[in-house]
Amino acid sequence: MKYKGAIGVLAGLLCAAGCGGKPPPAPAPPPEAKAPVAVSGVAALEEVRKFVELGPKEPGTPGAEKAARYLKERLEAAGVEAEIQEFKDQTPNGELVFRNVLGRIPGKGGKIVLFGSHYDTKTGIEGFEGANDSGSSTGLLLELARAFAAASPPETEIRFAFFDGEECRENYSPIDGFHGSRHLAKKMAADGSLSNLAAVILLDMVGDRDLTITIPRNSTPWLAALAFDAARAEGMRGRFQLYPGSIGDDHDAFYARGVPAIDLIDFYYGSAPGQNDYWHTPADSIDKVSAESLELVGRVAARMADGIARRIATAEK
Ligand SMILES: [Zn+2]
Repeated sequence: MKYKGAIGVLAGLLCAAGCGGKPPPAPAPPPEAKAPVAVSGVAALEEVRKFVELGPKEPGTPGAEKAARYLKERLEAAGVEAEIQEFKDQTPNGELVFRNVLGRIPGKGGKIVLFGSHYDTKTGIEGFEGANDSGSSTGLLLELARAFAAASPPETEIRFAFFDGEECRENYSPIDGFHGSRHLAKKMAADGSLSNLAAVILLDMVGDRDLTITIPRNSTPWLAALAFDAARAEGMRGRFQLYPGSIGDDHDAFYARGVPAIDLIDFYYGSAPGQNDYWHTPADSIDKVSAESLELVGRVAARMADGIARRIATAEK
């Protein structure tokens, strides 16, 4: 009370000296409160578990169609605009129906950051569950969608693409594998939206308890640098490294069209460091997947989206 009185007297004196009857300028509004993107590894693991329990999602089967509908429902439950993009494509076993599931959160600007994951499971492996390949990235993408939808509107538009037909049936070729990503890249090139894509961040095999993200050489260098910076900010730089070579994956369809793209993939998924012997085997089961790994990759992905928005803002200045 004492100080208030003193300030009142002081203000009165100052006004007498020179206010001239003008009201004081309004104080600057407080900076906009921004709800951060809060990714939960526990929630992501639960999404992975439920998705894996749906059973196999081999392209063109009722299991794949059920999975596509399920993903659309999960996106909509999170408040994300969603659609199923159905198309036919040739395969070594004739024409098949494929379905991408697409989600969208509008942003403040016209640029788009697209997060991707394939959701189909590899055909022809007895007892294959695909908990890490494709369950982990699919569950994490659902959790990212929930987290982005619950946060303040993003600077860039955020899109989510759940690709069908990533796995090849025999050997990768123009009619075998990457069906969903090739189709989406072609559609976006045709409707002009591809030029608004600031970046594609693909997630694949991201749930391994013993996480080593091996960024393939066919990724855009500035996005790899952004991933390393984000991992460092999370105190986990050692868990991210460059892979010695290229890895064919769903980011390629965009990368080949000149879109900045990166594959966050753990291609050392096995019984010992550097081994990949759980990959495409019945050993790819839910006990190999951890909430901690999912949360780390999710947090890195969310930081990367922020970094991309900052890069766009700097370029526009
Ligand atoms: Zn696979």
